[in-house]
Amino acid sequence: MASGGKSSKDKVVAVVGGGLVGALNACYFARRGFQVEVFESRDDIREAKVVRGRSINLALSHRGRQALSRVGMEEKIVSKGIPMHSRMIHSLNGKQSPIPYGKKGQYILSVDRANLNKELLTEAERYPNAKMNFDHKLQDWSPDTGLMTFLRPDGSTQSLRADLIVGCDGAFSTIRKQFLRRSRFNFSQTYIPHGYLELTMPPVAGEFAMKPNYLHIWPRNTFMMIALPNLDKTFTCTLFMPFDEFKKITTGYDVVEFFQEYFPDAIPLIGVEALKTDYFRLPAQAMVSIKCSSYHINDKCVLMGDSAHAVVPFYGQGMNAGFEDCIVFDEIMDQCNEDFGAVLPEYSRVRVPDDHTIADLAMYNYVEMRAHVNSKWFLFRKKVDDL
Ligand code: FAD
Repeated sequence: MASGGKSSKDKVVAVVGGGLVGALNACYFARRGFQVEVFESRDDIREAKVVRGRSINLALSHRGRQALSRVGMEEKIVSKGIPMHSRMIHSLNGKQSPIPYGKKGQYILSVDRANLNKELLTEAERYPNAKMNFDHKLQDWSPDTGLMTFLRPDGSTQSLRADLIVGCDGAFSTIRKQFLRRSRFNFSQTYIPHGYLELTMPPVAGEFAMKPNYLHIWPRNTFMMIALPNLDKTFTCTLFMPFDEFKKITTGYDVVEFFQEYFPDAIPLIGVEALKTDYFRLPAQAMVSIKCSSYHINDKCVLMGDSAHAVVPFYGQGMNAGFEDCIVFDEIMDQCNEDFGAVLPEYSRVRVPDDHTIADLAMYNYVEMRAHVNSKWFLFRKKVDDL
């Protein structure tokens, strides 16, 4: 029984954003018996032909797996992931050197972002008390009344009042806008000078073009390329580079010349023609780090996932930290008997410092991955650690 007169089954929890964290959170709230309404601005990605996301695949780690396991989803997701035991460092001369992530047997998993999102939406929908509302773009909401207004594709609007609003609407959160109007809300955002673009490395004779159980890295100090394996035996290569450098490459010839200088071993694997065209398919995307506090307004609204803490991707922990938000909130719900007036401030108190630390570590790893892994000292230290 939740405090405040109503039982959990009479309370409406609106999860705004049906991305990775929103879909998982819907499972957590539905499991407790709340009337869960998920509002997602996009169409249902399970029916869409093209799913636009921020990366094709992601690294799922221990903290993310733990969060999935609490809603019975770990095995389903892990079975479709590819273990990556080590980084594989590609030197300029083509030499490859593995650097394990941890002790023997420890690994992170490469998972398909779209599939993970689809599986989580399907799982949330299994609860009879959870309802998905696609094509509902939040326009505005009131922290006083909990009334939200959504824009529909035909231009009409729809309103709903909720007992609790959970903002999982990503780095450019509409929910967070109301927080910005309030006194003593801290907020900072930093764009790094680097952007990223993705290229596909196809299979060779039906097999992976490189060793699959690694996160491949081509560290080149001021920029780098990484590659994560996919179930269809392709690799998704992501080139991270300052926007100023991206701007200098304007023709297919420039791309090949650039790869010849910095990633020569990748050229035959990606293919010259593919390189020339795929490089220009989409412009390089920006990366932002966002910190804020606190994460709640009264007993009415709480931010989780990227809406609370967008981090740069170099630590591979953005989604994992967002998934961990769900566990931490769930544990505090138990401790505080589902009393939102007590749960929300406690959640902010506990979670803000940890999420800020993840953001700082991600920023640090930005340099670690593209530069420090190149150093002789780093390779020596890893060898000693691994003994
Ligand atoms: P999002 O995934 O952004 O989802 C937000 C959802 O809200 C979307 O579905 C959006 O359509 C919806 N929405 C937005 N506005 C509204 C609105 N007004 N009304 C209704 N709905 C709305 N993390 C890792 O853990 N491991 C990795 O390896 C990793 N790699 C990454 C690589 C790159 C290149 C990038 C950019 C990020 C990476 N991340 C990684 C981070 C990860 O992508 C994010 O942390 C994760 O997507 C956050 O999930 P989320 O649900 O909070 O936000």
